[in-house]
Amino acid sequence: METLSTPLISLPRYPNPTSLTVDNGHRDHLVFSLISQCSTIKQLKQIHAHMLRIGLFFDPYSASKLFKASSLSSFSSLEYARKVFDHIPQPNLYTFNTLIRVYSSSSEPIQSVKIFLEMLYESPYYPSKFTYPFLIKAAAGLSRLHVGQVFHGMVIKSSLADDIFILNSLIHFYTSCGDLDMAYRVFVMIDKKDVVSWNSIISGFVQGGRFEMALELFREMEVANVKPNDVTMVGLLSACAKKKDLELGSWVCSYIEKNEIKMDLTMSNAMLDMYVKCGSLEDAKRLFDKIEEKDIISWTTMIDGYAKLGEYDAARCVLDAVPKQEIAIWNALISAYEQNGKPKEALAVFRELQLSKNVNPDEVTFVSTLSACAQLGAMDVGEQIHANIKNQGVKFNCYLTTSLIDMYSKCGNLEKALEVFYSVKRRDVFVWSAMIAGLAMYGKGKAAIDLFFRMQEAKVKPNAVTFTNVLCACSHTGLVEEGRMFFNQMEPVYGVVPGFKHYACMVDILGRAGLLEEAAELIEKMPITPSASVWGALLGACKIHNNVELAEQACSRLLELEPENHGALVLLSNIYAKTGKWDNVSELRKRMRVSGLKKEPGSSSIEVNGIIHKFLAADNSHPLCKEIYSKLDEIMARLKSLGYVPNKSHLLQLVEEEDIQEQALNLHSEKLAIAFGLISANPSQPIRIVKNLRVCGDCHSVAKLISRLYDREILLRDRYRFHHFSGGQCSCMDYW
Ligand code: ZN
Ligand code: ZN
Repeated sequence: METLSTPLISLPRYPNPTSLTVDNGHRDHLVFSLISQCSTIKQLKQIHAHMLRIGLFFDPYSASKLFKASSLSSFSSLEYARKVFDHIPQPNLYTFNTLIRVYSSSSEPIQSVKIFLEMLYESPYYPSKFTYPFLIKAAAGLSRLHVGQVFHGMVIKSSLADDIFILNSLIHFYTSCGDLDMAYRVFVMIDKKDVVSWNSIISGFVQGGRFEMALELFREMEVANVKPNDVTMVGLLSACAKKKDLELGSWVCSYIEKNEIKMDLTMSNAMLDMYVKCGSLEDAKRLFDKIEEKDIISWTTMIDGYAKLGEYDAARCVLDAVPKQEIAIWNALISAYEQNGKPKEALAVFRELQLSKNVNPDEVTFVSTLSACAQLGAMDVGEQIHANIKNQGVKFNCYLTTSLIDMYSKCGNLEKALEVFYSVKRRDVFVWSAMIAGLAMYGKGKAAIDLFFRMQEAKVKPNAVTFTNVLCACSHTGLVEEGRMFFNQMEPVYGVVPGFKHYACMVDILGRAGLLEEAAELIEKMPITPSASVWGALLGACKIHNNVELAEQACSRLLELEPENHGALVLLSNIYAKTGKWDNVSELRKRMRVSGLKKEPGSSSIEVNGIIHKFLAADNSHPLCKEIYSKLDEIMARLKSLGYVPNKSHLLQLVEEEDIQEQALNLHSEKLAIAFGLISANPSQPIRIVKNLRVCGDCHSVAKLISRLYDREILLRDRYRFHHFSGGQCSCMDYW
């Protein structure tokens, strides 16, 4: 973006050819009336040429008429307007103000500031009450607090300090820069506040998340006898939606009715949004049916509402009822599925969209579907989507690049992820961070750190996400020194304050390396209250190093924060089992049974020819179930002949008979998925599996052996990282 320090382009103004301006009122009048009748830029340009010929253009007032048409009419063109402006020998105040105004709502608000400076230094005019509101609006568009503050200072020094338009624009400016206190100070200083003043300050507090204050101001507004309008009410509805306060929201709705406030589509949509966010779908539906001309916002709000409550059939009905199919409607349903842990359904809707051929998927569709593929490990589908993006000629922006890198890394194809990364020209902080995360997942800690430093060379500033990923890389590779260094540098060197995720990573790094004392000390010294994830990291480390005492502490602290966290109890019971404390195991199991806490069932998915097959432990539901189990028997027999002994300490449950215990181990979902992969996947391709929990030690050693015995690469993504099995080894070097 251009900055204020860029030198002003100063075009030489023509000398003022006053001699050319013949005072001819009648002729001028004719030209002005022609300008007002213009309906295209072409016609305007003809008049422009004529005005140049007869010298009328050199009269500032006449030129301002032409300029107004070029910049404010229905066929206006900012580019042309700027050219006209640059050729006017002596633009008058009106012309300056108009250009400042036009630029203030353009994509280049900085130009307003530049024109303003030109006006100050190169014209005889002083800024007027028509200059400041737009200049301040431009500063809001730039989100530069200090720029607006300068204008505010100039206003105070001028004689315009009590102009309500300027003061209202200052309120808007300060709220949009997040300085609510200053906005409020300007607001209270206004003598006769109008409805715009009230609306600006109320919507400012809503956007700043201070809903109580917004509602309090509304009450004050009533006391002050200023009649609220539709803008006020939309702001209030938004406050109720964000507060999830249905009672208040309903009151606002009845207030609107009672006071006969203008009820247009924007208002209806705001009401709809309030009902949906407050979880009252019945009210939403009732209102929705009453809206005569629904727009895309009305439809997507309803779809979103149903999907959030898990009422997917109802959401689907809404989609089917839309009269004009638009991609945003489909996106609403796809992303609702994707974000609520239903990636398979998201992809099914996407497939339907492709078959219907009514509308083309857009960037938003691709980002959601790629994320669904990443969740499922559905690389074939992901690759097809990648091809679609290219075929459709969709421009690669940083969102899409990030999604592609994430999809390929999570589906087990690091090379492809790297290929995407190196093929793009523009890389923002999210693109870099996604690639660092990809390398981290594969245990390529050194490469991830290397990329972090190259990101610095590329002058991209790391953010909190980058540091989570870098620390994750250190933890997966056991890089304790490096982890400590990054963690200690985060705030002083990079200005990123460590949050829960960073502490959890650091506890993980120290804990895994056996530095349990140091990890516990770090938690004690945390300036923020430790979150469940931090205690979870310590608990996980205790399991690796069999530290029962510390594990009990961590577990009880974790349960204080998340009483429903059954994963913690499972981990603790595993620690008891591992250290032979069977009494404690059964006691814990009893407790879990009483409180109804159940272990999250383990499941593994594998994609074969674009179809996802999902297995639970001891699953009998697959059509090829018989073949899978006989393959599994064959594998186990071959492994045993090689001297493999099942590792029983990975069993959670205490089972009496030897063989049952052994069998339960054999029936873990990832083993079933691997057996299925060996039967059905293309032998030249690696077997790619996604497991929802952490892989157990026995499955890990079995996968290693299979990779050697059957000469197959196996890529297994568990909840924490990737395991790439090949030739009897795993990429994690047994560090997980
Ligand atoms: Zn297992
Ligand atoms: Zn591994």
